Amino acid sequence: RTLAEGAMVTRMAPSPTGFVHLGNLYVAFANERLAHQSGGVFFLRIEDTDDKREVEGAAEAVISSLSHFGLSFDEGVTPVGEAGGYGPYYQSLRGGIYQCFVKKLVSEGKAYPCFLTAEELERVRERQEAAKRTPGVYGEWAAHRHLSLEEVKARITSGEPYVVRFNADMTDAGLMDGVRVADAIRGELAMPPNPLDVVILKPNGLPTYHFAHVVDDHLMRTTHVMRGEEWLSSLPVHVALFRALGWEAPTYCHTTVLMKKEGEAKRKLSKRKDPELSLDYYRREGYHPAAVREYLLTILNSNFEEWRMENPGSPAEDFPFTLGKMSNSGILFDLDKLGDVSKECLLRIPAAELAGFLTEWARYAKPEAAVLLERDAGYLEKILDIGRSGEKPRKDLAYGAQILEFISYFYDELFRIEDDWPENVPTADVPALLSAYLEGYCHGDGQAEWFGRIRSMASAMGYAEKPKDFKKSPELYKGHVGDVSAVIRIALTGRRSSPDLWEIQQILGEERVRRRVEAAAARQG
Ligand code: GLU
Repeated sequence: RTLAEGAMVTRMAPSPTGFVHLGNLYVAFANERLAHQSGGVFFLRIEDTDDKREVEGAAEAVISSLSHFGLSFDEGVTPVGEAGGYGPYYQSLRGGIYQCFVKKLVSEGKAYPCFLTAEELERVRERQEAAKRTPGVYGEWAAHRHLSLEEVKARITSGEPYVVRFNADMTDAGLMDGVRVADAIRGELAMPPNPLDVVILKPNGLPTYHFAHVVDDHLMRTTHVMRGEEWLSSLPVHVALFRALGWEAPTYCHTTVLMKKEGEAKRKLSKRKDPELSLDYYRREGYHPAAVREYLLTILNSNFEEWRMENPGSPAEDFPFTLGKMSNSGILFDLDKLGDVSKECLLRIPAAELAGFLTEWARYAKPEAAVLLERDAGYLEKILDIGRSGEKPRKDLAYGAQILEFISYFYDELFRIEDDWPENVPTADVPALLSAYLEGYCHGDGQAEWFGRIRSMASAMGYAEKPKDFKKSPELYKGHVGDVSAVIRIALTGRRSSPDLWEIQQILGEERVRRRVEAAAARQG
């Protein structure tokens, strides 16, 4: 690769389990930002050396889930083969490469074949337990560290299964007192050296994660390895392996877990309990990808919100994302906050584009509603644009499912009366009020004229023209103009609260307005 000075090479390296979750997206997004912000490369490697967990189509699932959120890879596994000069990018296709480096370590005495069986290992563990020693294969317990070459050959030829273990005693002397790593998120880490002869090659000839990532991230020239904090404890092994191979380690960045508030307490998001952990949740509910990205930035970098306030119109990609501002202690993930961020974000999207997004979402998640939305794109655009201009734009729209519910009354097929008539209006008054409204209704009226008519109608039927008159002398009136317009609002939208009713009527069109008012009057009469 010809990359400029300072360009970062980052990667996403999922196991092909088929489940892509919010934590993956969080880390992928940070990796993508680092690479693309610096003119570097973001690639996808599939860590499929553990064939038990493999799910067919898992790589495609990763690619399509991330691309839905606007993240794309420059190199690595793609839906149509591999791209880039540092492949193969499937670990299962790299067997020969790993074995070549295993051989090098074995020939230098830094690794060795170990034939200990599961039963033998179990016995070692029992003895260690009895003697209150650290469990594992190391030092005196590493029975096969010094087998002779003849013996190794004989065992292998006779078909005995074996693993290859790293010889922890051959760890670089410089690491014996402890391992120091400058983690780009957590700062300077000081850890005890790795004591164990960890397995680097499994009986099937494939490497363990420890070894594979060391070889791959070196050969693929990864500059920054960002991964979950569950890998922190094996960092000393990884550092030792890099040193044993004579390579410089990449910059490690260990992220933290996503937490959720439950009452006053916080807990880790769980696959079983929290549907919002799955990325498909956001697609099904219809969160706009830009909104999810925007929200992720607010939890990725503590200074994002301040930046957003100073740069309200800029694309989120202009925000200078930094590792140093990433949190290292449990990030709180909050769906309500996502909703708020989303409302702000959707406000920046033109109505026509939003209409396109909503329709496409409905095709995916609510096909029966998609048919309605598709019928008239201009109608939908007008609906979505209500109250969005002006000094104080409305922030009603958050995500697909919520928007659909919010605007459903515009569609006859979805419209229904949901709320009760106002308390101040005797039910017997409802048909009379609605008929009077219909009689005076003039679709061409401007907003002021229209409301003027409602006032006079209210007054003619015993309701105060102004709420404050009613408050002053409630004994003089049945209710006030607000109650009368609530009746009209319910007849037209089915709800007691809605955006500006005059605007709604203009969009519904005269015929639909009349039909709904008539129907409500008839139903109540
Ligand atoms: N395959 C590892 C995992 O899914 C990748 C960790 C890493 O990014 O190095 O956890």
